[in-house]
Amino acid sequence: MSVLPGSNLPSGPQFTVEAPSGAGPEAVSVGGFPSVSWQRQLAEAIRSPAELLAALNLTPDVATALGSADHEAGQSFATLVPRSFLNRMQPGDPSDPLLLQVLPTEIERQVTAGFVADPVGDAAARRAPGLLQKYHGRALMIATGACAVHCRYCFRREYPYQDEPRQLQDWQPALREIADDSNLTEVILSGGDPLILNDDRLQVLCEAIDAISHVERIRLHTRLPIVLPARVTQGLLTLFTSLRCQAVMVVHANHGNEIVGDCREALQAIVKAGIPVLNQAVLLRNINDTVEALEVLCRRLVNIGVMPYYLHQLDRVQGAAHFEADTALGIQLVKELTTRLPGYAVPKFVQEVAGEASKTAM
Ligand SMILES: *Cc1c(COP(=O)(O)O)cnc(C)c1O
Ligand code: SF4
Repeated sequence: MSVLPGSNLPSGPQFTVEAPSGAGPEAVSVGGFPSVSWQRQLAEAIRSPAELLAALNLTPDVATALGSADHEAGQSFATLVPRSFLNRMQPGDPSDPLLLQVLPTEIERQVTAGFVADPVGDAAARRAPGLLQKYHGRALMIATGACAVHCRYCFRREYPYQDEPRQLQDWQPALREIADDSNLTEVILSGGDPLILNDDRLQVLCEAIDAISHVERIRLHTRLPIVLPARVTQGLLTLFTSLRCQAVMVVHANHGNEIVGDCREALQAIVKAGIPVLNQAVLLRNINDTVEALEVLCRRLVNIGVMPYYLHQLDRVQGAAHFEADTALGIQLVKELTTRLPGYAVPKFVQEVAGEASKTAM
């Protein structure tokens, strides 16, 4: 295990990255082209607002559609942007829809009434260390607190990851809880981002879940295929297709500009491996709150076999108020999408309401 260089975050499990498992710095991507390993790309990710703005030929004091950069930000939630994601931003555009998702701004520090640390009731849903259950039949494991990107609107930006398991032995209570409840037919690996774990760690965890006979599906909630496509290796795909359980992947892209180049290839490789891939997006002000933006996103996804699943109304986490679009606008946008796209290409507009038995359709 190595601690990410340059991180100014408090040391904790969420800021450690697994050591490469065997693969050297050069690895072969699913496209067959040699590429820098995902671990090295993660180590070389951008870690400050100044670095991010300079890479896009923007001045440090630039004003974006969501406020000016906050160069002090990162005390509690650091800047983190892999270069693959950066490469999909338009240099010179201070309101690039990908930049706005990851650039810390001064407005984040404003306290807004109704925006809280745990907007979705995670604390009340904890069944065992690292295990949340809110809905019938499926439980969610906080596989790691680490992510390859720090989305400024992240609803778990305040989550107390330091309290959650790290080693397989720490997972025993959660695994026992799943084994003892035959109603649990699906286990969701979430986080943070579960694909931050190296293949060996993931395999151990997935095999432990796979060994519980009433579990039928293992679902991954991950943004790595979008922000760090090099993570999608043949080895990773083989790991998931070798399980007894059906693997399902739910990725997270918000804008059509994300679904190009290496990201598009990585998603296609997952689909070709026979793993169903769904996308969840978050409705974000000034980023994807137009019917045109959402239509392009959905079309690019279905064109490579990735099904739009949910469009989430923003979870009201502290520091994210400036990303919120009106619920009424979201309803209107999805209604218009329905007139432009085949039914299967339109995501459901939902909100997570703490204590409800499912996500709430809007
Ligand atoms: C969102 C969520 C799920 C998944 O819900 P689906 O509607 O099945 O996608 C499961 N568990 C928790 C705790 C969740 O927050
Ligand atoms: S990838 Fe998901 S969990 Fe990670 S910072 Fe972004 S929204 Fe949060």
